[in-house]
Amino acid sequence: MKKRVSFALVLCFMLCSLSANAYQLNGHRVVDPQYVTYWAPTSDEIATPSEINAVVSAATSWQVHCPEIKMFRSNTINASMIIDFFLDVDMDAYAITYLGSKEIAFYKPWRNLSMVRKQETAVHEVGHILGLEHCQPQYNSESVMREFGFNDVACPLADDKRGIAALY
Ligand SMILES: [Zn+2]
Repeated sequence: MKKRVSFALVLCFMLCSLSANAYQLNGHRVVDPQYVTYWAPTSDEIATPSEINAVVSAATSWQVHCPEIKMFRSNTINASMIIDFFLDVDMDAYAITYLGSKEIAFYKPWRNLSMVRKQETAVHEVGHILGLEHCQPQYNSESVMREFGFNDVACPLADDKRGIAALY
């Protein structure tokens, strides 16, 4: 009997600490969250204007949903993040964020996604630049930072907003 009670306490402790830390931080942060800049091509040999717009609107969605964040398009590559399209390069990822070079690269599989999933992918990658790591899988439905699959919602969700509020 005693053993069962302590097991229940341990389980409760685990569940409580999980719910307190749904979002995960990756150690990266932008210098000034009120002045987050991104460079994206205005035209591209491979990416279409609507694909470029998908990524730009995804970046902007962070400032729509998080008061801590203000996004500005930069006309130089001296920016908080650089958006690049490699839509002729096959990869086993839709996109990859390289934190060291602050680069978000979109690859060939991304092109075959629906528009909302293209945007959701871009929101996710910008989340990495802002400092969010993949969420714990049980919070997939309330985070754009889910590691696998889609919510088919192209904006930061409740858990992402909590993460940004905690970080900045
Ligand atoms: Zn990711």
